[in-house]
Amino acid sequence: MLTIPNKLLLGSATAATQIEGGDFNSNWYHWSLAGKIANNESSIVAADHYNRYPEDIQIMSELNQEIYRMSIEWSRIEPVKGVWSQEGIDHYKDEMTMLLKNGIQPLVTLHHFSCPEWLQKEGAWVNPNTVERFLIFAEKVVLELGDLVSEYCTINEPNVFVTDTYMDGKYPPGHKDDIKSYFKASKHLILAHLKAYKLIHRLRADHKFTGVTKVGIAHHLAHFEVDSKNPLTHLSKKLMDFSFHDLFTKGMIEGKLSMPLGVGYPEGQGRFCDFIGVNYYSRHIIKSTMNPAMLFGEVTVDESLPESRKNDLGWEIYPKGLSIILKQLYKDYPIPIYITENGIPDANDTKRAQFIYEHLKELVSLINDGVDIRRYYHWSLLDNLEWNDGYGPRFGLVEVNYNTLKRTIRKSGKFYGELIKHRNISEEMKQNYNIKDVSYE
Ligand code: BGC
Repeated sequence: MLTIPNKLLLGSATAATQIEGGDFNSNWYHWSLAGKIANNESSIVAADHYNRYPEDIQIMSELNQEIYRMSIEWSRIEPVKGVWSQEGIDHYKDEMTMLLKNGIQPLVTLHHFSCPEWLQKEGAWVNPNTVERFLIFAEKVVLELGDLVSEYCTINEPNVFVTDTYMDGKYPPGHKDDIKSYFKASKHLILAHLKAYKLIHRLRADHKFTGVTKVGIAHHLAHFEVDSKNPLTHLSKKLMDFSFHDLFTKGMIEGKLSMPLGVGYPEGQGRFCDFIGVNYYSRHIIKSTMNPAMLFGEVTVDESLPESRKNDLGWEIYPKGLSIILKQLYKDYPIPIYITENGIPDANDTKRAQFIYEHLKELVSLINDGVDIRRYYHWSLLDNLEWNDGYGPRFGLVEVNYNTLKRTIRKSGKFYGELIKHRNISEEMKQNYNIKDVSYE
């Protein structure tokens, strides 16, 4: 039997662009129009969560979820530069109110990969003025949501965002191997977080909003390993750890800019996270340094892995990597940890319950060893738009039929709901959901 400690709250995570639909002002809608999403799919319908949120909150409640991480779509609040949409603001107020009525505590992400098209046209994150525009948006959201939300995640996965936007050409404006923009945007994202951290604390204190203010980031931490003794491969791993992980960890938690972004502490030296959000999915093998952008190595998966150890996108299922990462992180920064994302694309729903069990097992053992882990947000509540990969990958605890938009709770969703209710996974549950104790080396 696996008992979940009371301090670890359980729920799920989503992002606005991936589930809401109906927004004509975001850069992702324009990216869809340009045919940049798999199978020419579009962000415009998604799961229609914008209209169906009462039904979705009802489902969360049925699954006994205690917490929910969601993002606010900037283009719904400020569709035109400097013009606020009262409709957009009221919509999110209503959604938060309904979550709270159902006993579900929201964690709000302010930037989850998308922005208004007007900002994209101004250069988005390579433009230094975007830092100021982000703060204006953040101030509006915090003041409007007031007492309804006390926990904010400023930026989601700055490392994945700049890699997919400026190195791999997958996100708008789709640059390839543009290292200059990678670093420029990274610096602006770090500055935006540091300034927003201070701003949100100041605003909530000045206005005496209720609830303990907590501000952090959601950092994507992958587990990297090398596949050979070749010293160049080791160098490549070091560079990857630096450019993908440390640049942002040091920048956003300590306030330290590293070269080539800059030097010193532009907003002072300190702790700029009340919690560290960790998004964890997989282990990656760094293969060679033949990639022209050597800084980023060549990231692959062990080809000899059996199908049972891979998800629908071919990523390795490696729960142990989560422990390895968190142990090191907590040693470096003894700050509360939230698992802001962890999940699996699994259309047939044959691996998800086992995946949840294995990852929770790692977390419980870390907690028992004194690591301060307080939240687990499963990615994701619903099937959603997997960015440029479109609607193929199915990450949901709840299946969405994209023809009818009907929601169906998957068997793994029921498993998750049951485990939250009982705060343990009994032998009987393991039998019912075909869960085994396997070792992932
Ligand atoms: C992102 C999500 C995405 C998930 C699965 C994370 O990189 O924050 O938006 O859907 O991983 O790929």
